[in-house]
Amino acid sequence: MQYVIPPPPQAAIPVAGEESQAFPVRRIWCVGRNYAEHAREMGHDPNREPPFFFSKPADTLVPSGTTLPFPSLTKDLHHEIELVVAIGIGGSDIPAETALEHVWGYGVGLDMTRRDLQTEAKKLQRPWEPGKSFDASCPVSPLVPASRIGHPGRGAIWVKVNGEVKQSGDLAQQIWNVAECIAHLSRSVALAPGDLILTGTPAGVGSVKPGDRLEGHVEGVGDLTITYDAAASLQRVV
Ligand code: MN
Repeated sequence: MQYVIPPPPQAAIPVAGEESQAFPVRRIWCVGRNYAEHAREMGHDPNREPPFFFSKPADTLVPSGTTLPFPSLTKDLHHEIELVVAIGIGGSDIPAETALEHVWGYGVGLDMTRRDLQTEAKKLQRPWEPGKSFDASCPVSPLVPASRIGHPGRGAIWVKVNGEVKQSGDLAQQIWNVAECIAHLSRSVALAPGDLILTGTPAGVGSVKPGDRLEGHVEGVGDLTITYDAAASLQRVV
């Protein structure tokens, strides 16, 4: 069989500290409202309802250190700093007790959001894709294997915009921890090697403007830097 057009490149993320190794990405899942303070700031009750998930295509990934053009259609681009979980072993109906055995490693990600489009979609009961799944909407740091750092259940998570801390929290504040997120998601869809899960964002989401520099950090996991420049051209992770 011969492809009739060039096949799309395999999305991948570099492995931290290993120049010749990369983690190939299949699907990107994101957890909604997984920190109580963020649920409150978005106008929702932070009670422990089951987690919900949305997705971004793998080709929305961009690597740390990238300068990105400002996205189209939005006047309210928001940063959401998140712990990224990289699935190494797939499965369905995974019990929370053994879920961490499915994790290959971790990274630092930004669930960039065109908040004005997401808000409009919520109001009109339309899908979230225009707000969440646009080009270059998923910057992710190099991934670090769990075999090196273990499974972080607590530790600082923050993002600075132009040097000023905008979001700051602790992984221990997650309403659903990593194992529980995997358990819930794997009841909805079969997970497979290469899947990523962005595990929600702490309070303090806010606007990003052209020219802004974002620095994200998760304690014990890594760092991520992204700059927006209206004159930049789009780059992808390959
Ligand atoms: Mn998010």
